[in-house]
Amino acid sequence: MTANLLDFDLEGLAVFCEGLGEKRFRATQLFRWIHQRGASDFDQMSDLAKSLREKLKNTAHIAALPVLTQHISADGTIKWLFDVGDGNAVESVFIPEDDRGTLCVSSQAGCAVGCRFCSTGHQGFSRNLSTAEILAQLWFAEHFLRKHLNTEERVISNVVMMGMGEPLQNYSALVPALKAMLDDHGYGLSRRRVTVSTSGVVPMIDRLAQDCPVALAVSLHAPNDGLRDVLVPLNRKYPIDELLQACERYLAHAPRDFITFEYCMLDGVNDQPEHARQLIELVQRHGHQGLRCKFNLIPFNPFPASGLHRSPQARVQEFAKTLLDAGIVTTVRKTRGDDIDAACGQLAGDVRDRTRVQERMSTQRQAQEQVIRFTPLSSSSASAKDPSQ
Ligand code: SAH
Ligand code: SF4
Repeated sequence: MTANLLDFDLEGLAVFCEGLGEKRFRATQLFRWIHQRGASDFDQMSDLAKSLREKLKNTAHIAALPVLTQHISADGTIKWLFDVGDGNAVESVFIPEDDRGTLCVSSQAGCAVGCRFCSTGHQGFSRNLSTAEILAQLWFAEHFLRKHLNTEERVISNVVMMGMGEPLQNYSALVPALKAMLDDHGYGLSRRRVTVSTSGVVPMIDRLAQDCPVALAVSLHAPNDGLRDVLVPLNRKYPIDELLQACERYLAHAPRDFITFEYCMLDGVNDQPEHARQLIELVQRHGHQGLRCKFNLIPFNPFPASGLHRSPQARVQEFAKTLLDAGIVTTVRKTRGDDIDAACGQLAGDVRDRTRVQERMSTQRQAQEQVIRFTPLSSSSASAKDPSQ
């Protein structure tokens, strides 16, 4: 088994190159070929010595994840379902906007946290993704989009770890992936354009502050422990006060930043005026003069097994107004890609449990008209069939 070079940040690749008896700067060249140029074939890497290319062919490979399906929404949102083996699939979503292109990335197959309103949570936990499997989503999407849009320019300007899984429960694979995203020789994204979203793994929030203080989003969803214990079971381990204290410590490492609180609006559950008032009290109680934060209200994406409903729009607006009137920056998330079930947080789409993933994968393998298979873009045998063309 040779090493998948997508598994390394630049430092890891330098160590790998040293192991081959090569100078560290070779790693920089290699890293640029892989991430900036989308190369997967060592023979393409014309400025690397032939002897190094031969060594690499014997010891390494650069492997994309097989694409099971690709759906392009009328609004330009694109959702990919990637095969990660053993009947597991993960999703990534590209969301184009006027001034940015955001990729929503998965960190685990399934999730162990088991939030009441989340279809990934309902699937249970299968396994952590490797760094290569996390980075492969960005690598594939970026280079697919450049080709698709016929541009040499960077297309993805923002990454949000808001796909399937709890990124801070897969910390050791997450951090090298984040570092490759930030690296000037990799994707060159600024620290504020890479967001880790967490349900509140307090010790790992502290470690992230030390290791890679990117933008932090916290899935709050409830203003008190009684309700949050039910909606986000991890709250029983790390209750709200501890979580908000971790947010304060995080901001001490990122002085000009703010925490984004995600709040999924559930009809009759967490959307009452009382809940908004409790939230205001909560953020005012933390931090120096209140916690530096922003609220993002997310319309719930319903799925039958949840037994929950989306709050009516008027109630969401009223809730937003209460927060705004208290001086808290509040936005309501636009739903994007509804026609392809692509809204972040709903990434499992209609894949409701692992059995169904397996069933779906086998039927889709048979139903050729629905399966779009890609080989890595740089490969000369690439035969990407793009349904939009
Ligand atoms: N595990 C991480 C990141 C993935 S979920 C976390 O929980 O933060 C990304 C966001 O989508 C989270 O805020 C999550 O609570 C939200 N979400 C999950 N299911 C949803 C649904 N059905 N409708 C709307 N938002 C949802
Ligand atoms: Fe896991 Fe996040 Fe879904 Fe909760 S909302 S089950 S933490 S993916």
